[in-house]
Amino acid sequence: MTQPAFSTHDVFNQTPPFEDVDLFALDRPLRDAVLGFGTTAAEQDLSEFGRHWGSAAMAARGRAANENIPKLRTFDSRGNRRDEVEFHPAYHELMAHSAHGGLHVSTWTVEGKPAGGAAEVLRAARFYIASQVETGHLCPITMTRASVAALAAEPGLLARAMPVIASKSYDPSVAPWWTKRGMTLGMGMTEKQGGTDVRANMTRAERTNDGYRITGHKWFMSAPMCDAFLVLAQANEGLTCFFMPRFRPDGSVNAIHFQRLKDKLGNRSNASSEVEFMGAHAQRVGEEGRGISTIIQMVQLTRQDCAIASAGLMRSGLAHALHHARHRSVFQKHLADQPLMRAVLADMALHVEASTALVMRLCRAFDRASGEAGEAAYMRLLTPAIKYWTCKSAPAFLFEAMECLGGNGYVEEGILARHYRESPVNAIWEGSGNVMCLDVLRALAREAEAAIAVLDELGEATRGLPGAGEAAAVIATAFRRPDSERMARLAVEKLTLLAAAAALNTIAPRSAELFASTRLANPHASMYGTVDLAENDARDLLQRALP
Ligand SMILES: Cc1cc2nc3c(=O)[nH]c(=O)nc-3n(C[C@H](O)[C@H](O)[C@H](O)COP(=O)(O)OP(=O)(O)OC[C@H]3O[C@@H](n4cnc5c(N)ncnc54)[C@H](O)[C@@H]3O)c2cc1C
Repeated sequence: MTQPAFSTHDVFNQTPPFEDVDLFALDRPLRDAVLGFGTTAAEQDLSEFGRHWGSAAMAARGRAANENIPKLRTFDSRGNRRDEVEFHPAYHELMAHSAHGGLHVSTWTVEGKPAGGAAEVLRAARFYIASQVETGHLCPITMTRASVAALAAEPGLLARAMPVIASKSYDPSVAPWWTKRGMTLGMGMTEKQGGTDVRANMTRAERTNDGYRITGHKWFMSAPMCDAFLVLAQANEGLTCFFMPRFRPDGSVNAIHFQRLKDKLGNRSNASSEVEFMGAHAQRVGEEGRGISTIIQMVQLTRQDCAIASAGLMRSGLAHALHHARHRSVFQKHLADQPLMRAVLADMALHVEASTALVMRLCRAFDRASGEAGEAAYMRLLTPAIKYWTCKSAPAFLFEAMECLGGNGYVEEGILARHYRESPVNAIWEGSGNVMCLDVLRALAREAEAAIAVLDELGEATRGLPGAGEAAAVIATAFRRPDSERMARLAVEKLTLLAAAAALNTIAPRSAELFASTRLANPHASMYGTVDLAENDARDLLQRALP
């Protein structure tokens, strides 16, 4: 469509929108990671998904869902409790598209067993692509997928819920879950007095004839329009996990009273509630007193998704930055051809390539953990480490990506300002940074032999890469120190860098060498663009990132 001209100036040297693109086909590092750690059989499907999520229509939905934030309707006009959250239609459309793509369930069979094959890697590729467009709605999607792991502790309940969870329909109606075409699940652990130390939970659970009655509060409970929540509460035998549906078994509305929605920095399309349970009905999941070990099965998967989404957000930042730099001229030369901007972009491309390889390598471990002890150990040791490093690196990365677009990066019409505001939450929720580092130490202490075997394997996979041997030695020393907790951040960062180099070495050996020489052999300076990459390496990295 031709726009009427301005009388004062012509519009030129502005970048065309990065829309109506194939977010899979354009992303060589992602394709290599899917082939290397997953399968060669899904390229066409992923390309279809990439084109759909890369369309201008999906980008418009992402913007609308964040500009028109959810509203809590506590009461109706007559003063009756309503406890419903209204979302913009774009949010529901995003949910429907993600459900249709199986993002909430494709790693499970309809019986709730791990789907096997490369299901984790393939779903991760989709999740990574969707997170480049809109991340807020992925909160209930990820919780639904993860809840299946905890529900496994209650086979009867799992068998009843699975056919509804496994449908690829999104059903936003407010109705009992067993009557719906599809359902979503949330999670309520955090209370006012503590989110990390959930053993301090005060919410109480009393046995009744048909289950339990739960009384108490949750200070954060996201996606409150989910059909049911996995909630922690204190029962007679201690902290216990419960399945709390929006409707009681007799079809009446359950006593789940939302107090208000959080006013958040980002993640604005997603509602996060403060809630009181006024004797709400719930059913036990797992044994009384085993609440943490039951829900940790779920949390392991939400942590995995935090890392995938953070890698996806950074990929989006890189793609927008590179696209802009190739179109925008400054001093008669495209930004992408200015040596200093090339240095910044190539360094960023290397970071994203490593993050992508790493999260996909982790997903392969999830795919194989049930049959291979080494992969199970990798999953346990590396999930918190990769969650820590990937999620914490995203905000600074997205700031740099925004800056590549200059002023256009900072305004809300573009996507980068939203990505930037979104990015810190993945590090904060599902176990904040320090907690992840302590988790790595716990995995080392509990399963020392298996963890050492993982470290040996990483050493083997990075043999000959610059700085790899020294990094392995630092990790081993730091973890052996009696005050290892104090040094945990350094050791976990080194561990993740080594694992990233190993993952890259499997699928893109030259990128692995560059990564190792700029991150392992020498500590990376605090800004991007501070490493000395040869011109042909920079060109290849940028070409791989966006042809
Ligand atoms: C947008 C949003 C949505 C959320 N949605 C949900 C939800 O749906 N369900 C839910 O249950 N929760 C939810 N949460 C809560 C979130 O999981 C918690 O905020 C998080 O677990 C941290 O708990 P906390 O806020 O109580 O902080 P604290 O537990 O007080 O921790 C504060 C800081 O101390 C650090 N720390 C803790 N222990 C140690 C230690 N031993 N040594 C060193 N450092 C330590 C932590 O790393 C953290 O940085 C949400 C949070 C946000 C921001």
